[in-house]
Amino acid sequence: MLSAADFDPKPRRASVAVDVGGVIVGGGAPIVVQSMTNTDTADIDSTVAQVAALHRAGSELVRITVDRDESAAAVPKIRERLLRLGMDVPLIGDFHYIGHKLLADHPACAEALAKYRINPGNVGFKDKKDKQFAEIIEMAIRYDKPVRIGVNWGSLDQDLLTALMDQNAEAGSPLSARQVTREAIVQSALLSAALAEEIGLPRNRIILSAKVSQVQDLIAVNSMLAERSNHALHLGLTEAGMGTKGVVASSAAMGFVLQHGIGDTIRVSLTPEPNGDRTREVQVAQEILQVMGFRQFVPVVAACPGCGRTTSTVFQELAQNIQADIRKNMPVWREKYPGVEALNVAVMGCIVNGPGESKHADIGISLPGTGETPAAPVFIDGKKALTLRGPNIASDFEALVVDYIEK
Ligand code: SF4
Repeated sequence: MLSAADFDPKPRRASVAVDVGGVIVGGGAPIVVQSMTNTDTADIDSTVAQVAALHRAGSELVRITVDRDESAAAVPKIRERLLRLGMDVPLIGDFHYIGHKLLADHPACAEALAKYRINPGNVGFKDKKDKQFAEIIEMAIRYDKPVRIGVNWGSLDQDLLTALMDQNAEAGSPLSARQVTREAIVQSALLSAALAEEIGLPRNRIILSAKVSQVQDLIAVNSMLAERSNHALHLGLTEAGMGTKGVVASSAAMGFVLQHGIGDTIRVSLTPEPNGDRTREVQVAQEILQVMGFRQFVPVVAACPGCGRTTSTVFQELAQNIQADIRKNMPVWREKYPGVEALNVAVMGCIVNGPGESKHADIGISLPGTGETPAAPVFIDGKKALTLRGPNIASDFEALVVDYIEK
């Protein structure tokens, strides 16, 4: 019979550590959260503002599009402005088609970036692909920068895919078209990494990713990559979608892979509402890692879902307010109170699970359910500390949480 220990997460897969501007990806380092801007990089003000917002929200690396001369010229200025704001956040340049040219023509951009992301499916034009791929790798060697070889389902190397489809047909089609495509994605990443190493880029300067838009494909391609290499792996479901669908799909896919010890850095790609908050993707990435127990970023506020035993919405509002207060104060608290991320707060709706759950938290409150005495016991470090009464229970408890943190 399996023991309870068999159901813990699998040990992290051994991967080669890559230093991205001082942030270590792989080699057993904590799983890194990253994100990407959606501003025009040539618009320096907007890009600086968005990188700063993403970094403040917890993005440890931020990727920016470098698609033309104007954006390449803006990169060193963006980096400089961020440093002046006290933000030494590593910037990753996202290159397609003409990356080799942009890096060659803009040495200050090549220097300012902490990593180059290239896509083997569109690294260059047709018959010049290998030459242009080599030029980018040589640039990475010259500037001592790591490279992410990021294969994408939507821009897969068509020559490789066709060759594998032909091979499969000749062998009597043992694999479905979808399985052949997964194989092509994995081979594209591995062949490109081998080529980069042959040119002289060491493995500790290479990160791999294979992005797809379906959960089962993400699980398959990353499991295959993990099985066949020890490169650091970047996980992400591309075009994950809007609203809850994007959050659920990313969580389901990455949760499964991370549980199996696979993945060194994650990005959650959510389609924001027009003018929506881009930092939501950072929050979701952090929450995936936190709820799975891999990292702690902000104190956990546990709240019951509510049921017919309480018709009041006080406990939901209280839980939301406390979570919002904590998020707002975290940049300061993180500096002032090391370890504050590990705090657990419970806000419960009635006596059924309230006292029990609150005792498990560092600080918890059990609000009165319908028909219960209008009193709310507060538990601190597992013991009942006091009982709150009256119309200000919510604000009194918020003050107690702040007080607990500050002590
Ligand atoms: Fe319902 Fe009480 Fe459980 Fe909350 S703690 S879900 S109010 S029974």
